[in-house]
Amino acid sequence: MGLPRNDQGFVEEVSQFISSAQRELILTTEENSLGIQRQIAGVVYPESMEQLRKLVQLASRHGVPLYPVSQGKNIGYGDRTPYQQGQVVVSLTKLNKIREYNPENGEVVVEPGGTQGQLAQFLKDKGAPFWADVTGASPDASILGNTLEAGFGHTPIGDHRKNILDMEVILADGSLLRTGEMPSVGPDLAALFIQSNFGLVTAIKIPLFPIPEDTVTFVISFSTEPSFFKGIGVLKELRKAGVFNSLVHSGNATRALMTASPFPKECDPAHALSESECQALINKKGLLKVGAWTTIGAIYGMKEEVKFKVKRLKAAFRVLVK
Ligand SMILES: Cc1cc2nc3c(=O)[nH]c(=O)nc-3n(C[C@H](O)[C@H](O)[C@H](O)COP(=O)(O)OP(=O)(O)OC[C@H]3O[C@@H](n4cnc5c(N)ncnc54)[C@H](O)[C@@H]3O)c2cc1C
Repeated sequence: MGLPRNDQGFVEEVSQFISSAQRELILTTEENSLGIQRQIAGVVYPESMEQLRKLVQLASRHGVPLYPVSQGKNIGYGDRTPYQQGQVVVSLTKLNKIREYNPENGEVVVEPGGTQGQLAQFLKDKGAPFWADVTGASPDASILGNTLEAGFGHTPIGDHRKNILDMEVILADGSLLRTGEMPSVGPDLAALFIQSNFGLVTAIKIPLFPIPEDTVTFVISFSTEPSFFKGIGVLKELRKAGVFNSLVHSGNATRALMTASPFPKECDPAHALSESECQALINKKGLLKVGAWTTIGAIYGMKEEVKFKVKRLKAAFRVLVK
């Protein structure tokens, strides 16, 4: 059973330490790129950890449900729209520091609002011998929110949920928790906060990818679905053999459609598009030109090594094509 909700008490107390410029605590409607609308009780933009902890404590006391977003660029998966009506969105865009950079181990600690564009620029400015593992999303998408959503990038450390070295979390009573410095002894609590709502994550420590001597990106286009399934089997074997070590991103025309445009206004967002509706939009946008399925991956390593591995990759697909 939930607490009796006291919005007025919440707004009054929040107004004492969060300026009017940092809050819009009025009932309003949000719409996301899926066409889904939600009534929200407002948005708050905390600027310090102290404000955020107080906010969480007040929300617990007044029974007001919060919905945190780091940058809210979860485009295609809900954007910054809460999953329930009446929640207060806590936008963490202003908590965006890169708190630590360890050049020896290649690690950074980033706050929720820190974006992938910001981290890439930070490393460039420092002349660091590392890349951030970024995704195909916007440069304005966050590092932290993407990881909590089990996001994926392109390098060998692209499975972001598996590459969390530590996290700092505010729990519902306002207390601060560290998920555990990894790899180390003791339990790793990080998994509890992936795609869950057990806490509000305020910092993440992640590894960086040492810039390799050479990189070759490969794109394989499959004209039919059966050839794609066969190709994935071949790629699995090549990955096991160490021919490439990146993640692979595969998509079909429907996926390209989802990333190319918002949900069509003329359709009802409560229902998924039928296959024929998808097909009509795919044809209209000419998306079949990307192939029935397309797979992208990369080979990273030393020059000679990459050259050798590219040869092995090409040979494997020549066999498949025959
Ligand atoms: C063209 C295109 C390409 C894309 N390519 C990729 C891709 O290659 N890989 C990929 O992974 N995604 C991809 N995406 C999806 C999406 O844009 C990204 O996952 C993006 O990083 C999510 O937005 P965000 O980082 O701002 O997270 P947010 O929108 O801020 O948050 C994501 C989720 O985590 C929760 N959350 C966020 N911050 C906190 C916090 N501090 N504490 C507790 N919970 C929190 C939120 O409630 C939300 O449910 C793509 C999208 C598009 C449109």
